[in-house]
Parts: sequence; structure tokens; C-alpha cells
Amino acid sequence: MENARKLLQKYYGYSEFRPGQAEIVESLMNGNDTVAIMPTGAGKSLCFQLPALMLPGITIVISPLISLMKDQVDTLFSLGISATYINSSLSVSEVNKRIYNAQAGRYKLLYVAPERLEAEQFQTAIENLKISLVAIDEAHCISQWGHDFRPSYRAIGPFIARLSQHPVIGAFTATATDNVKKDIVNLLALNNPQTYFTGFDRTNLFFSVIRGENKQDFVLNYVAANKNHSGIIYAATRKEVDNTHTLLSKRGYEVGKYHAGLTDEERRKSQEAFIHDDIKIMVATNAFGMGIDKSNVRYVIHYNMPKNMEAYYQEAGRAGRDSEPSECILLFGAQDIMLQKFLIEQSVTDNERKSSEYAKLQTMVDYCYTTGCLRRYILAYFGETTLADECGNCSNCKDDNELTDITIEAKKVFSCILRMNQRYGSTLVAEVLKGSKSKKVLQQGFDTLSVYGILKQDTLQEIKDLINRLIASGYLCLTESEYPVVKLTDRGIAVLKENVKVWQKVPKRPQKIVNDNLLFEELRILRKRIADRENVPPYLVFADSTLKEMSEYCPTERQTLRLIKGVGETKLERYGSEFIEVIAGYVAEHELMPSHKAISSTKDEGKVDDIPSHIVTLNLCRTGRSLTQIAVERNLKLLTIQEHLIRCSLEGHAIDWSQLIPVQYEKLILAKIEEVGADKLKRLKDVLPDEIEYIAIKATICKHKNNPVG
Ligand code: ADP
Ligand code: MG
Repeated sequence: MENARKLLQKYYGYSEFRPGQAEIVESLMNGNDTVAIMPTGAGKSLCFQLPALMLPGITIVISPLISLMKDQVDTLFSLGISATYINSSLSVSEVNKRIYNAQAGRYKLLYVAPERLEAEQFQTAIENLKISLVAIDEAHCISQWGHDFRPSYRAIGPFIARLSQHPVIGAFTATATDNVKKDIVNLLALNNPQTYFTGFDRTNLFFSVIRGENKQDFVLNYVAANKNHSGIIYAATRKEVDNTHTLLSKRGYEVGKYHAGLTDEERRKSQEAFIHDDIKIMVATNAFGMGIDKSNVRYVIHYNMPKNMEAYYQEAGRAGRDSEPSECILLFGAQDIMLQKFLIEQSVTDNERKSSEYAKLQTMVDYCYTTGCLRRYILAYFGETTLADECGNCSNCKDDNELTDITIEAKKVFSCILRMNQRYGSTLVAEVLKGSKSKKVLQQGFDTLSVYGILKQDTLQEIKDLINRLIASGYLCLTESEYPVVKLTDRGIAVLKENVKVWQKVPKRPQKIVNDNLLFEELRILRKRIADRENVPPYLVFADSTLKEMSEYCPTERQTLRLIKGVGETKLERYGSEFIEVIAGYVAEHELMPSHKAISSTKDEGKVDDIPSHIVTLNLCRTGRSLTQIAVERNLKLLTIQEHLIRCSLEGHAIDWSQLIPVQYEKLILAKIEEVGADKLKRLKDVLPDEIEYIAIKATICKHKNNPVG
């Protein structure tokens, strides 16, 4: 395994395996047929690529989609690993050329589409190849129980059986239901396979459900706060996709769309633009995403609730494949339930299947209403119950929303609905509350009701939003009819009868997912320039996580750049000098400390040691981040960050004192220090106003130690 680790550093620029990877590589290297079940983004590719590098002969990789194959081969090329693919997108002569090269031993990996395995010409062509390993990517495609069954995957078993020398088989998937697993083992005729399952948790994803909010407003605020990041917005229907797309493009966002109503060419173009970071936002139906390996998708917003948890986790899971913090937000409105029911009624005729679809929909709805940890809910749904009670990284665990008492407004809405005899839809109810003079209101004589106009100070939209929130939190419900009618639930009635209070969460304005510094931006621009020049997606040049590490450690030499995660030998060779140039310019301009990841004293090649933590803080501080931002970003306590700065100052670095000492108090603190003495911290704290923290006192002492003010 020593060798595997070396190659991991050399080609990929990673110093550690992710969970499960080392075991899977070892199992394959020991000649065991192996099934690896790891969630999206966990790093399955590397588990067969590393053995491919170490084993003699060639590795055949079977992959379901042309776009996936090309992407993987491009990735390997960028790492300096020789690989190619054969599929229907190539001309006959190109296929022959590649087969010829394979026979000449020019590739370590050969990607093929499953259809190809049955072609006689292909079978004869590979007869004299030495195939050490056959890796089946997305192996669940072999099973009808999986979510994307591909009949052509059934050709894999017979293909392997026909080979004169039996290779090792590795099967890779993110789906682990028992039926699928059984199919993989049986249909591939695996021999006593080792199975590895790393769990489904994606710890870098933040899950949140937002109920009953105005979706358009939310999306607009969110994309405004996260302009620089790539994200996908999934909507349930083409119409909803078109509307959201128009909404965003009118505001000047570069946004693409993708749904089954567009031509192949239109879809291809917008997918391409998204992958190449030419557009940042993709609005799409669930038709979009399969086979997209774009690793730097920072958020996935569901504009509507999807039909079940499998679909949700798969779509949301397209965020954060590079393991960087990313967000998965579900915007839930009660109308979503009706829409999904409608879609089931439209598309499913078989009664048994229909009831199973309804049951799945119900679990999805329950997810939207649960007050428990969302991650736990998801994992439990997939049969994993090992997670401790709270994940601390979902909207229910990290609930910092403020609660407002909206009992009075809610009661007004409830009475209005009752006065109108619970027979109308939410728009008409809102109009009556607003005191509208619309024809319908006047015709029905609603302008004579006592509730007419009792919310007239609000806009019609605000009233509608309020009603939607009350529906989403279960005080009101909608009937399931063509024109849904709003009615009170028992919960709503209790508010009127028993004086129960109604609280409403006010979601905070969307925050930035990650706080980038200026260097990160510069590096991103450089990356895009290189990507365009080489005609590859930017994430193939370097992942976001790599740029982020560069922007924190600011390496200005080849030896130190090499230590950044994701910088292997080939990329160092190809892009090293360009990146160093930008970083060095930035370091000079901002007078940053020369800090870098250092090689540890154990001389263990490729092993890295972190640089002193307080220096990292200092550098971040100098790039203009606030101390609170740094604390969040580094997942450290604010106090720790403050102590870092004091330490830097003691070591002689110039720091920005205003970050530690409130200017309006500095004089007062100094006066008290004179009076009480700098060694009596507790006493000083007591004689100063409460809002002055220990750290401010400490900082003042430190700042004036050598040059007391006269
Ligand atoms: P999967 O096929 O399981 O969805 P990939 O193989 O596409 O995942 O890997 C996802 C991302 O994780 C890629 O950008 C890959 O380079 C990265 N990655 C894989 N292994 C490691 C590792 N040991 N350290 C850091 N990053 C890794
Ligand atoms: Mg994969």
C-alpha cells in the first residue's frame, strides 16, 4: 500500500485516502472481486484508477454515459495518466486507432460503453490484450431495481465470462438497496466478493427546508448573496423552469435552462456552458444532472418538493462533489404536494405502484415537516441509523431563525376564511383581507363582511405569503380539487378557540456559503483562462478546494505549491508557474507572511504538516476577512482567533488592533490599567463596563506594553 500512497500523491496530489479508498484498492490489488458502495463524491474513481496504474496490462472501465467517459478520460489526462475511451461518438477509423494503441500497450485504462461489449469486432480486438481489472462504474445500472436500469449492462456478465483469462472485477455504485446489491453480485457472477460500504452521509452538505416562504424572493436573495458560485435550481415542471429562468435573466444573471421541451442542441449548449463556468446558475427539471461530474456545484435549490427521497438525495447530492461546504435547500409550499399527486395520477396506472408512489411521496412530505435533524432523517430513510442524534449541520440542528408572534394576523386570516364559509381559494381570501374591489369580491358581497380589509396595510402578495406559511405549518389546509379551497385544520381552530399562539420563523437573509478572499477570485479567473485555452471544464484544471488551499497558504515556490491538496506532478508541471505568478503578486501586494504547508520533519515523502495556526489566521485577516468570518471558516472559536492575533503581535507581526479593541473604549481601558495595574485582569474586568470583554483588555495591555501612551 506504500506504493498506492505514493501514486496518490504523485498523480492526484492528495496526501490522504478518503474513508474506504485504501481498503478497496487493497482488496482489488489482492485479487478479490470487490463491490464498493460509496455516496456520490466520495471518490470511487480513484479506487479503480490506482489499481489500474499498479497492475500489469490494461484496466477496462465500463461506464454508462458518453459524457461521463469523456470527462473521466479528460481528468486522467490532466493528471498525466494515459487512458482512452471507445463509444458510439467515434468514427470507425478512430475506434480502430485506439484499439491498435491499446494493443501496443499505450493505455493504462480503456473506458467502454456496455453496448460495445457485444460487438464481435471489439471482442476479437481485445482477445490479445492483457486485462487485469474490469471496473464497472455506476454498477446499479445493471439492476431493474435501481433508478436507472440500462439493459445493455446485462452484456457485462457474459463478456467477462468469455475472456480467456479471468480478470479481477470491481463494481462501484452509490446505491445500496439489497435488491440492487444481489443483482450486481449475481449478474456479474462475482466470485465471493468483498463488499465495502462507507455510509451515505455527505458531511459537507448543509441541508435545509424552508417552508411556505415566497420562493421567488428567496431565490433572488440567495443568488444575489452567492453570485460567484455555481448552483442548480430544480423545479418540478417545464413551466416553472421557464418562469424562474426568465425571472433570473431579467435581473441580469447569466443563467441557463434545461428540460425535455428544449432541443438536444439547446440542452447540450446550456449544459456545456454550465460545466465551463460560463453560466453560474442552471434552472432545470429532473432531466438534468445524470452524468454531470462538475465538482464545484456549491448549492442545489429545489424550487419544488420532488416526488420522493431517492430523487431528492440524488439531485441534492450533485452539490459539493469536491467535499467543500455546499448547501441543499428545499423550498416547500403546500401546493407542491398537490402537484406531485397530480403527476402520480397522470403517469401511473397500476394501482399497486400508485400506492407505493403515494407512500414514498408521504415520506418526502414528512421530511419537509420534520422538526428533527434532517440528515438523520435522510440517513434513516436509507437504512443507516448510526448517526448521533444531531448533525449540527442542517436547518433544524442549526436553527438560528428568529421567532415572531404572528397570532393576531393569523387570527384575522382564520376568521376571514370562516366568514367566507371555507369555500374559496387563497387568492380570493387574500383579496377580501386586503379590501380589494375586484369583481368577484363585490359580486359575492364580501365587502360587507367585518373582516373586509382588515389587513389592508399589507400588500396582496404579503397576505398570500402569510396564507401559504399558515398552510405550510399546518394551521390551514388545501382541498384536493381542481380549484383548491383553503380550510382551517384542528390546529387552526385551536388558535381561535383556545388562545394558542402562532409563532413564525423568520428566515435570515441568505448568507454566503463560503467567504472567498480576493486571491481566490484571482485564482478562479486564472483557472478559467487556462480552461478556455485548453478547452476543458475549469474544475479539471483545479478543484475549488485546491484554489481555496492556495489562497490560504499562498505558496510562492514549486516545493510548497506541490503540497497543496490536488496538485500532482503533471499539474504542477503544466500550470505551476502561472499560479505561482499570481500568488506571488498577491503576496507582495498585500504584504503577506510567507507561510506555507511545510514538509514534516519525519521526511515521510508527501506527508504534510500544517503551518502555525495563528499565522494562518493572520494571513486571512490581512485578506480583509472579519474575525467572525475567519472563525466560521476555520471552524474555531472566535476567542481562539482573537488569541491568535495577540500571539502574532507578541511575535512581532503587525496586526490590526481595531479588530480586538473597540476604539471608543480604548482610552477608558488604558486609564483603568494605569489605575489598577496591568497584572490584575479580573479586577480590571470588574471596574470596566460589562460590554468590554477580557480579550479587549488583554489586547490593550499588549498593544501598549512597549509604548504606553503619554
Ligand atoms: P464518485 O465517483 O464517488 O462520485 P469521484 O471519484 O468523482 O466520486 O470523486 C469526487 C471528487 O473527490 C473528485 O474531485 C476527486 O478528485 C476527489 N477525491 C477523491 N479522492 C480523494 C482524496 N483521497 N482526497 C481528496 N480528494 C479526493
Ligand atoms: Mg463516479
